[in-house]
Amino acid sequence: MVDCVIVGGGPAGLSAALVLGRARRRVIVVDAGAPRNRWSAAMHGYLSRDGIAPAEFLALARRELEPYDVVRYCAGHAVDAVAIAHGFRVALESGDAIEGRTLLLATGVVDELPPIDGLAPLLGTSVHHCPYCDGWEHRDAPLAVYGCDERAATFALELRQWSRDLVWCSDGHAPSHAARATVERHGVRIRTEPITKLEGDAGRLRRIIFRSGPPEAVEALFFCTGQRQHADLAERLGCRFNDRGTVLTRAAEGTNVPGVWVAGDASKDAQMVVVAAAEGAEAAVAINTELTRRDLEAERA
Ligand SMILES: Cc1cc2nc3c(=O)[nH]c(=O)nc-3n(C[C@H](O)[C@H](O)[C@H](O)COP(=O)(O)OP(=O)(O)OC[C@H]3O[C@@H](n4cnc5c(N)ncnc54)[C@H](O)[C@@H]3O)c2cc1C
Repeated sequence: MVDCVIVGGGPAGLSAALVLGRARRRVIVVDAGAPRNRWSAAMHGYLSRDGIAPAEFLALARRELEPYDVVRYCAGHAVDAVAIAHGFRVALESGDAIEGRTLLLATGVVDELPPIDGLAPLLGTSVHHCPYCDGWEHRDAPLAVYGCDERAATFALELRQWSRDLVWCSDGHAPSHAARATVERHGVRIRTEPITKLEGDAGRLRRIIFRSGPPEAVEALFFCTGQRQHADLAERLGCRFNDRGTVLTRAAEGTNVPGVWVAGDASKDAQMVVVAAAEGAEAAVAINTELTRRDLEAERA
């Protein structure tokens, strides 16, 4: 039984592994290798690594873990996790199982992508969900906001910080009178026609084609269509969720299930790489503190 099984080898999981490894804790990181930002050409907003390719960032992180012989990275997919005496058993798709005294879930989330033809090749270069991550690269350019409900109105107003040339595309859905009035008051145009496809080349969006009406020439599209947990392990273990669908955590990423921590995008709502890494580190310190407490208790017994 290792000290901690970490499921998820993105920024949150690897950061936790580094801190726990340096605390001489035996750790296994199980990772399916599909981080949320794998579509992206460049990762932004991480001090000292602004603009690095996401895969390169993770490769650097994994390389930094190599000298810590207490940390093992294991490519694999965790399909179940259950509480056992003194810890947890994590079942892998391969049929193997790993046991740990504590469990850190750093499995991230998956974005619900707009169902539009032509979107896939533009994802991460000119189709985005987060202006903090990718807004600067499209500042002052003509931008589209995609969203079928009222959230898109709030999102469009937020995007004005990056560009004032905005069109909200509601893809066949009629915005409420209030939402329409609010965005129009702030100079955001609205196109309600169903979208047929996105046209672009070499990863650059050129125009949105509608079922009726003229095409819309834009440089990028930002969508707000929601997200879901990447793994159901937190749910299987009985973790509580907030109304955004992320795991409800208390201080240092602890959950309502003793011995289970959740860090990164899967918990809370500030979803950025630097935040995920920080949450992983925070959880690692809490996990080590808990293990130290248990070790001292066992020595006294
Ligand atoms: C297109 C795009 C661009 C982005 N750009 C930026 C940016 O520029 N700057 C920024 O700060 N943020 C950016 N983000 C957000 C960023 O990707 C996340 O905040 C960050 O990846 C969260 O890290 P994480 O470790 O929580 O999860 P992830 O990075 O998603 O890693 C989770 C890992 O867990 C693994 N996993 C999931 N389930 C299982 C399982 N059952 N068994 C084993 N492994 C599993 C996954 O395969 C993955 O490797 C972007 C997101 C997207 C979608």
